[in-house]
Amino acid sequence: ASWFGHVEPAAKDPILGVTEAFLADPSPDKVNVGVGAYRDDNGKPVVLECVREAERRIAGNLNMEYLPMGGSIKMIEESLKLAYGEDSELIKEKRIAAVQALSGTGACRLFADFQKRFLPDTQIYIPIPTWANHHNIWRDACVPQRTFRYYHPETRGLDFASMMDDIKNAPNGSFFLLHACAHNPTGVDPSEEQWREISYQFKVKNHFPFFDMAYQGFASGDPNRDAKAIRIFLEDGHLIGCAQSYAKNMGLYGQRVGCLSILCDDELQAVAVKSQLQQLARPMYSNPPVHGALVVSIILGDPELKSLWLKEVKGMADRIIGMRKALRENLEKLGSPLSWEHITNQIGMFCYSGMTPEQVDRLTDEFHIYMTRNGRISMAGVTTGNAGYLANAIHEVTK
Ligand code: PLP
Repeated sequence: ASWFGHVEPAAKDPILGVTEAFLADPSPDKVNVGVGAYRDDNGKPVVLECVREAERRIAGNLNMEYLPMGGSIKMIEESLKLAYGEDSELIKEKRIAAVQALSGTGACRLFADFQKRFLPDTQIYIPIPTWANHHNIWRDACVPQRTFRYYHPETRGLDFASMMDDIKNAPNGSFFLLHACAHNPTGVDPSEEQWREISYQFKVKNHFPFFDMAYQGFASGDPNRDAKAIRIFLEDGHLIGCAQSYAKNMGLYGQRVGCLSILCDDELQAVAVKSQLQQLARPMYSNPPVHGALVVSIILGDPELKSLWLKEVKGMADRIIGMRKALRENLEKLGSPLSWEHITNQIGMFCYSGMTPEQVDRLTDEFHIYMTRNGRISMAGVTTGNAGYLANAIHEVTK
């Protein structure tokens, strides 16, 4: 008898499918703008110099004992300074419960599990669209999902009025998932003024904001600027939750290093919440991996390495901003009558181009350009070498 005969293959992940198809294409012209990982101007993966130096310092010098259940104390301390501000009173008052997490995904999942266990009657409001995995994470944690409007297809910008309506119409005390910066997949963020209005409305409604911050520093090149939304909510006296990831901003993708933090009313509450987060982690993975946490704490804990990191993260952000300009200029030079302003207005890793699934299919079939059918271009895959080719192909299929 077969135990597993009823198990059907799972649906293919749309993004991993794009990479597979790209790898199988023998064309020398092929371009991959599907995957959300940074590439240099030659299309190659990058290891930051600050990371190399941290690894040199680790090599042979540290043991491989387990970390505490909540992860590296030093890494957490540095992460909180990065998200809440170097001199944050909240840190000094020990009001933040925080644990090391398995990158941004693990931080979101741990929070979703915490929400299910301790606030079982709450739901999560998720923006439309969002990073597809958000839906999976809260689904598997058995937290009911609602959505709020976010993106305006015509303007390819923020649908601020609808977003505010949905915030106002949600029951008081609702949980909302917000992208702290560089919204994935749209690259559309609220302005500072709009964040202030959102924060104000959250106060009126007593909503709880959970910030997913997967791109701090990667959007503008300045981690403090990219944390602006969070700082506004803190100024307004909200309690918040926050998922941090070092995948993009330190290029530590496969190391799975991140941090989950929950701001509490006082130290006593924070101690209780932290102990419960650890209790949730214990039967899942016991304690988090050590190497990435060491790399992060060495970099952020050493003023010289930290300034090297700031320089390097700005370098990545600037290259992407430069490629946005190049792509737009090339399209305009080709005489495209369409507006491509949104390419440079949007921010972060992705450009939500507005192309239809049929247009994307033509890009792939006729030009060997690989991307998800929602029209999302990973700007990290654009280079000085392929920006012209890409613009020409986009022009051809949008004529
Ligand atoms: N959240 C958002 C919005 C993302 O775009 C990503 C990565 O694509 C993540 C979280 C999680 O990434 P990781 O788990 O690699 O940190």
